[in-house]
Amino acid sequence: METLKSSTLQLRQLTKRYSNFEAVRNLDLNVPSGSLLTLLGPSGCGKSTVLRMVAGFLNVTSGEILVDGQDISRVEPNFRDIGMVFQNYALFPHMTVESNIAFGLKMRGVSKDEQAVRVRDVLEMVQLTHLADRYPSQLSGGQQQRVALARAVVIKPKLLLLDEPLGALDRHLREGLQAELRDLQRKLGITSILVTHDQDEALYLSDYIAVMNGGCIEQLDTPIALYDRPQTEFVARFLGVPNIFPSKVVSKSEGEVVIELGGQKVVVPTTEAKPVGSDCKISIRPSHIELVAQDDARMGLVSVINSAHELGERIVYHCEVGGHKIEANAPRTSNSARFAVGQAVKLLLDPAHTILLRD
Ligand code: ATP
Repeated sequence: METLKSSTLQLRQLTKRYSNFEAVRNLDLNVPSGSLLTLLGPSGCGKSTVLRMVAGFLNVTSGEILVDGQDISRVEPNFRDIGMVFQNYALFPHMTVESNIAFGLKMRGVSKDEQAVRVRDVLEMVQLTHLADRYPSQLSGGQQQRVALARAVVIKPKLLLLDEPLGALDRHLREGLQAELRDLQRKLGITSILVTHDQDEALYLSDYIAVMNGGCIEQLDTPIALYDRPQTEFVARFLGVPNIFPSKVVSKSEGEVVIELGGQKVVVPTTEAKPVGSDCKISIRPSHIELVAQDDARMGLVSVINSAHELGERIVYHCEVGGHKIEANAPRTSNSARFAVGQAVKLLLDPAHTILLRD
């Protein structure tokens, strides 16, 4: 199957209200053509509501859904040209794999000959040619989900919507299918939205990730930027950053502020206009803190080690700085330095990854 002419999706001031509860609030979002954008966030933040409005299963309260600049928010779901994959496969149990995949083409009046060619191509793509005559009940969960994916893309949709598509599969199978899904989406170039709870899945599959909180987008970024530079406390916590500290700005200069942490000073690069004396919060991932001996000449936080655990490829140190608990990770290689519990050390915070969180 050839690459599609990719569409763009824009959501403008999209709002969904259930009586007086706003599940989605004035949401603006651009999904560039051919890219995969993930809506990530805790249960109840509004991810599925956005997806269901784009699919047309839910009416919008206000706002616009633009595909290639055309507002489709009042168009019936069947006429939106959208492929969908759900967590629970939703295959027709009484139809073979081949008929399941051909169904959408038949409904669109595609000729029998073309149906056969397109079904054959897509079956090859998801490596299910040998199972074309089976019924869904005769397939594993992973195979059923590949049929669901084939059925969604065979109609050459303008958009592909993926609602927790791998959520019902065990971890091993899920990882295999993530790679397949990513390859297929890139190969076909279908503009796609994925909804997931699983941040590893989002980081692996996405071109962009929108983290949602209370019906709004809290941060939209590439996976790497989001992982390295969460901008708010909510995003940092959601992405599992353990080191988040309340602090105060003690001085500032061009492009940076100096904050106080447990009675010691830390330089944090920022473009935010934070006045001296104001409260702030900083975050840093454990892998961005280097542990060195206390007599090291470099600038760092004087600290003491409370615990040390060897975990797979890393050593996890829990340290303390003036009453603040700080986690630092070191690679567990044969020549890496080991620090003992109770030992005084210095923590070097990588300035590029020390983040002054937005209020
Ligand atoms: P999950 O990950 O658990 O599926 P979600 O982020 O997809 O969560 P939504 O299903 O979009 O969340 O729901 C967003 C909010 O809207 C939730 O607080 C939910 O309780 C509420 N909600 C959803 N459907 C309705 C409804 N029909 N009537 C009232 N409130 C609703």
